[in-house]
Amino acid sequence: MLPSSLPTFVTAVVVTPSPTPTTPPTEHGGDGGGLWLLLLLAAFIWAVAHVISVHLHPLRTCRACRGTGLHHGHLFTGAMRVCRRCGGTRRELHPGARATARHRDH
Ligand SMILES: [Zn+2]
Repeated sequence: MLPSSLPTFVTAVVVTPSPTPTTPPTEHGGDGGGLWLLLLLAAFIWAVAHVISVHLHPLRTCRACRGTGLHHGHLFTGAMRVCRRCGGTRRELHPGARATARHRDH
């Protein structure tokens, strides 16, 4: 009688459902964060490619004279002067290359 009554008491204690507070893991911002991370990664890759491109090709066509090296007058189009931006070299240093490339001609 005694040994049979003890296990029933133990199982009764164990079986009683304990009220565990189950917090539902519903975070709706998970997908948006992944998208932002993907965009950030794409921007980072683009920036790295741009830096490498600028490092390999630090010069670009002068935008003031459009690669002619000369600046024409607005009223008298026959009059011209050397482009002040590129100094007649028809090319200018890329803005991003100024920090890395040093002026070797000085
Ligand atoms: Zn120019």
